[in-house]
Amino acid sequence: MIVKRLRIPYHFPSRSTSKKTNMGKTNVYIINDDAIFDVGISSDKTTEILKNSIGNFDKKLIISHAHVDHFGAAYLFNEIYAHKSACLKLKDAEEEYFRLVHIHFLNEGVPLNLIERMRINVEEEFRRFIKPTDKCRVISNKIKIGDETFKVIHTPGHSYSHICLYHKDSKSIFCGDVLLEDVIPIPIIEPIDEFERYDVMSLYLETLEKLISLDIKKAYPGHGDIISKHDEIIFRYIDNWEKRSIYVWETLDGKTAFEVTTDLFPRSHLFLSMAKIIAIVDFLHSKGFVEKEEGRKGRVYFKVDEIESIRELWRKIKEKMIRKARSNQ
Ligand SMILES: [Zn+2]
Repeated sequence: MIVKRLRIPYHFPSRSTSKKTNMGKTNVYIINDDAIFDVGISSDKTTEILKNSIGNFDKKLIISHAHVDHFGAAYLFNEIYAHKSACLKLKDAEEEYFRLVHIHFLNEGVPLNLIERMRINVEEEFRRFIKPTDKCRVISNKIKIGDETFKVIHTPGHSYSHICLYHKDSKSIFCGDVLLEDVIPIPIIEPIDEFERYDVMSLYLETLEKLISLDIKKAYPGHGDIISKHDEIIFRYIDNWEKRSIYVWETLDGKTAFEVTTDLFPRSHLFLSMAKIIAIVDFLHSKGFVEKEEGRKGRVYFKVDEIESIRELWRKIKEKMIRKARSNQ
């Protein structure tokens, strides 16, 4: 397998720490001179970098997931492969996705004037950098790149549309944003319709179980440098989510998700911090540690059970992860 990496800059006004965390650039991988994995935001700079390195756009494009910094410039290519959910989001540049997210946020207590502001921010920060295209085809569970076959693994959690490409012979994986060294990826809200949404944290944990069971020597992430110890990263995420779930649980009694968000992250980017809190609240609810009630200010959450039971849940999650990690040794 021959891999070449390009680094495509993107600008998120919300990411003030981007220089420090290496998050200001998307890694685009050229694999076996036949396919490109991820493409970066739609911008003149992206087009220029791609033109200078691959010449024209007749290669296959494979998209890890439907986030602007990974699929915004996909329209440049004619042969695009991605998860079904990413193809849908590419077709309307995430218009329907954000429409549903705003309905969910409204139900979680975000005031209408802030929803209006979020709509403007979404256009400015995300949708402006995605050019829609209907050339996306649903990827199957295998794909041929050059002479080699790669396994396509569905890895939902950070985004429901997320896939990884695994190359067994070289024990390599192209892992998009599922495994990142410098930051803990957010399990981002994923509405199914106006009322239902996925429990994205549980999905992410299942994804991590899949990944820790694989024999991986090199993981090529969507941002930052190549990862050699993916299991350490996975346990770091779990420790972080355990801590976060406990302080969210302690904070939420009688509050909406919006109130928890403004209590814990008063000055952070509202979309990303709401996503963080909703992921935890949905997870705790699915595990029976939280009850909810529809109130005048939005959906309100209440604590159930004891803190020790939440710690016990995370202990079991870690034990299972250790068993899965051993299964590939
Ligand atoms: Zn992402």
